[in-house]
Amino acid sequence: QAKQQLGSSYSFYSHDLNTHAKQRYCLETELRQAIKQKEFQLLYQPRIDTTTGKLCGVEGLLRWFHPLRGLLLPSDFIPLAEETGLIVPLGHWVIYQSCYDLLKLIDVCGEQVSMAINLSFQQFKDARLFTVISHALEKFDVPPQCLEFELTETAMMQDEAAVAAAMSALGKLGITFSLDDFGTGFSSFAHIQQLPISTLKIDRSFICKINSNTDDAVIVQAITNLAHNLNLSVVAEGVENQAQVDVLTKMGCDQLQGFFYSPPVPITTFCERSTDELVGCIV
Ligand code: C2E
Ligand code: MG
Ligand code: MG
Ligand code: MG
Repeated sequence: QAKQQLGSSYSFYSHDLNTHAKQRYCLETELRQAIKQKEFQLLYQPRIDTTTGKLCGVEGLLRWFHPLRGLLLPSDFIPLAEETGLIVPLGHWVIYQSCYDLLKLIDVCGEQVSMAINLSFQQFKDARLFTVISHALEKFDVPPQCLEFELTETAMMQDEAAVAAAMSALGKLGITFSLDDFGTGFSSFAHIQQLPISTLKIDRSFICKINSNTDDAVIVQAITNLAHNLNLSVVAEGVENQAQVDVLTKMGCDQLQGFFYSPPVPITTFCERSTDELVGCIV
């Protein structure tokens, strides 16, 4: 009987695997197609400066408008794009599109605004990364200091040498980097100091319970102090309410980002209204 059970569960398992493989293959084909057919859009979420209360930058967040499945979020397709290497051509599109949109944002906000773009680990291993970025900067004539790349601690630690080399080369162009989801990985401050990283983005998991969990509050304050002593600035991600704004401002956090201010929106939203109005009407 045990054998029978094993047998049936085995066939069930293999059937599942098969379905999974088929779905994956399907999605991979569609992803390839979608890059060609421009089914992607970058939405932008504002970052607010705690000292002025005004917009100081945006983060680009990728969306896939699938003709049949509808809106797909990064968690639906970024892992597969990374596994298949399709993140490289997709990332090239993101770089060009964000530079094009950055130009529009600079028109409204001036050159002190910054545009942050997420990069996957695989993109740092792409030999064309530097060429694509410098070409995009030149093509749209955007100042490199307005562009910031976000990478996660985990990404940075995957192949430290390759990531460090790419970062240093891009750093020489004037581009800055921030460490995303900070506090969830294992990077050392000594290591951070050697790379052109200017900002730590404290992970949402520490921000969400900051007013009820003393440990989280202590961690955020400690990261902020240490970062400031090392000349790094601090962004809190996932800010959803006024109580969080208050405590994070009191702690000395430099910038805030989250649904409290705005979800990610199309670039035209920033261009149609004045930025004061955009932030002002949501707060
Ligand atoms: P991330 O870079 O840490 O981005 C923050 C995520 O938190 C975004 O999810 C954003 O929509 C969400 N978020 C922002 N404010 C709030 C809030 O107040 N509450 C809550 N609950 N969530 C908030 P999204 O857009 O689904 O992106 C998920 C992740 O996908 C990003 O995490 C980033 O790692 C990755 N990603 C997004 N766009 C790109 C891209 O163009 N290239 C690459 N390589 N990765 C990307
Ligand atoms: Mg990010
Ligand atoms: Mg993050
Ligand atoms: Mg995150």
